Amino acid sequence: PERITVQELANRMAERAADIVKFLMQQGQMVRANDVLDADDAELIVEEFGHTVKRVSEADVETGFISEADPEESKKPRAPVVAVMGHVDHGKTSLLDALRETDVAAGEAGGITQHIGAYQVQLKSGDKITFLDTPGHAAFSAMRSRGAQATDIVILVVAADDGVMPQTIEAINHARAAKVPMIVAVNKIDKPDAKPEKVLQDLLQHEVVVESMGGDVQTVNVSALKRLGLEELTEAITLQAEVLELKANPDRSAEGVVIESQIDKGRGPVATVLVKRGTLKRGDIVVAGAQWGKVRALVNERGQQMAEAGPSLPAEILGLDGAPEPGEVFAVVENESRAREIVAYRQRQLRERSALVTGGGASLEQMMAK
Ligand code: GDP
Ligand code: MG
Repeated sequence: PERITVQELANRMAERAADIVKFLMQQGQMVRANDVLDADDAELIVEEFGHTVKRVSEADVETGFISEADPEESKKPRAPVVAVMGHVDHGKTSLLDALRETDVAAGEAGGITQHIGAYQVQLKSGDKITFLDTPGHAAFSAMRSRGAQATDIVILVVAADDGVMPQTIEAINHARAAKVPMIVAVNKIDKPDAKPEKVLQDLLQHEVVVESMGGDVQTVNVSALKRLGLEELTEAITLQAEVLELKANPDRSAEGVVIESQIDKGRGPVATVLVKRGTLKRGDIVVAGAQWGKVRALVNERGQQMAEAGPSLPAEILGLDGAPEPGEVFAVVENESRAREIVAYRQRQLRERSALVTGGGASLEQMMAK
């Protein structure tokens, strides 16, 4: 991006924000860690701190990854990653349950047996779709605030008997801020008091213009309960995905985002990750947030062991030394000592940050004193 905060720049260089603030002060500029720098200033600082300026593509910057962009010719098509958002009780969970059953691979391999925070279905057409099974705007925001955009498409669920409600509007704003295209699923179409036309009118008030009204937002009438309209919905998703031309390089070390994590009594720390590029393999050394470990096992939503997971494929990983926060970025690194180094740095940063927070905010003086 052409703009970056002091803190973000410090993170990327593995330097302290306070040192950048100090440097800029010597140049006669008063800035704080959260202030935004323009590209020229940022470049100057990078050089001043003895680092090289690395050009990365916008798309790669948005994912929050530090390493370089992949050459275009290395990229291959990948499945879209879809999040379901909407007002409480409008049917997000029901729709995710219904969509799970569209999976044609389920028959042979056994159904989805456990909730891991994301699942991938294969459609009759052969197309694949990954659904984030963590409905809730909080998860979406957590990822965004860490700069790790996991979602390609948002399904906005609006109950036809209730219409646009406060969390519907919140979801619209999230999708907009993230520049993620929306598909409207007008749910509960089976109800006698369903008013799908009213929903579309309401949406217009919020500048969501559906195709039938001359806009470019696809809309599908569904009933999660009666399993109606699901094929149309998955078709709408594949159509939108084609427009987005989603691609990633599968032939490199894996990077992605943490969807959920927990400390399992029997298995220890377990994190569900979504691979964004590269291929994650058993035995890889992974850093995820301030945690690291050697991947002992990769498990899918059917509870099966996987040998590897490529782009857009979610997997549970076992072997980390703790549970990373949802929304943290993960990356495979070359060896254990590199992993330890990164984690030590990040833990130090976390401590510094919490010290600043408990100190009642980051004043310039406080940062200078460090
Ligand atoms: P969430 O809060 O958005 O996750 O909503 P839920 O999936 O929990 O659904 C809320 C309620 O609406 C539940 O009682 C569901 O059974 C019901 N519901 C969900 N989808 C439909 C639908 O398509 N038709 C009808 N009639 N009820 C539905
Ligand atoms: Mg729910």
